Amino acid sequence: MERDLQYIKHQAPLLEYLRRHNWTARQVGSGQEFVGLCPLHPETHPSFYVNASKNVFYCHGCGRGGDVIRFVQLYLELPFRETLTHLKQEFGLYEPSQEEALKEALAFYQSQLQAGEARYYLYRRGIHDSSVMRQMGMGYAPGGILRRHMLQLGYSFDLLLQVGLINGQGHDTFCRRIVLPCFRQERLVNLYGRSTEGSTCHRFLRGPKGGLFAWNIVRSSPSVILVEGLFDLAVLWQSGLVNATSALGAHLSQLQLGQLCDQPDRQVFIAFDSDPNGAGQGAARFLAQRLTDAGLTAFIVNLPEGQDPNSYFVSGASAEEFRRCLEAAENRWP
Ligand SMILES: [Zn+2]
Repeated sequence: MERDLQYIKHQAPLLEYLRRHNWTARQVGSGQEFVGLCPLHPETHPSFYVNASKNVFYCHGCGRGGDVIRFVQLYLELPFRETLTHLKQEFGLYEPSQEEALKEALAFYQSQLQAGEARYYLYRRGIHDSSVMRQMGMGYAPGGILRRHMLQLGYSFDLLLQVGLINGQGHDTFCRRIVLPCFRQERLVNLYGRSTEGSTCHRFLRGPKGGLFAWNIVRSSPSVILVEGLFDLAVLWQSGLVNATSALGAHLSQLQLGQLCDQPDRQVFIAFDSDPNGAGQGAARFLAQRLTDAGLTAFIVNLPEGQDPNSYFVSGASAEEFRRCLEAAENRWP
């Protein structure tokens, strides 16, 4: 709240407000001080002083003083809340939506993707094609600089907190993370951040993770490759396997499952991680069964032990080798 008040006072300066309401004044000395007749009561000798740099007033006639909010309360005899609404309307300070805040934050992160540490991390993950990065909407959160940027643009502290872009201490939620957008239909509903340092690898902001990644592009393909992670997806797209999508994890939400099932004749190639503990394959079998029950044709793609699509390509596999894995994929599973 306090930060919102600061924002309003900053965006709706007292002197500007007074001038809009035809207050005439003369400058006192060479500084930021002005004097004129008091708008709050009748008088013939100017006793109303405004300090423009401090953004406050004081009247020696009636003894009242304060900031622009106090002034409007007295001038229009409005309660506090209505005063804030009046100032917001008068200065066109509308409340941006959560989606607008997400979009703005994403645009900022995208502008940071050239940072050396981001490029180095992507290089290590085998991602080098700028057009794929752009198509995926990839960005980078260096940490520690988003909040100031967003406040300068006029987003309130409370909104940033609500969306989850900052935490309760006011620090950026994403720090040294590759950032990707999460959509539900056409709406941006969340951001995903992949740590470049290994601590808490996967992180979302508040709210649902959205639908399958880039589903509006992929859905028209009669066969779809489904991978767990967005870096798996990036290497596939980079290799020309553009019918790939990601569920941002091995467990699909109802929305994502519904998307996959929206065409009964679709073929789905599940290429989850082939991790030693078998979690990826377990999830793949579970999903394949659900898709089969829904009438789709599901295949489980077996990658070499310990590999996921990303590491498989990073270790030197070609698109042709991955295609051979697709051809060998099983449509029966134990
Ligand atoms: Zn006065």
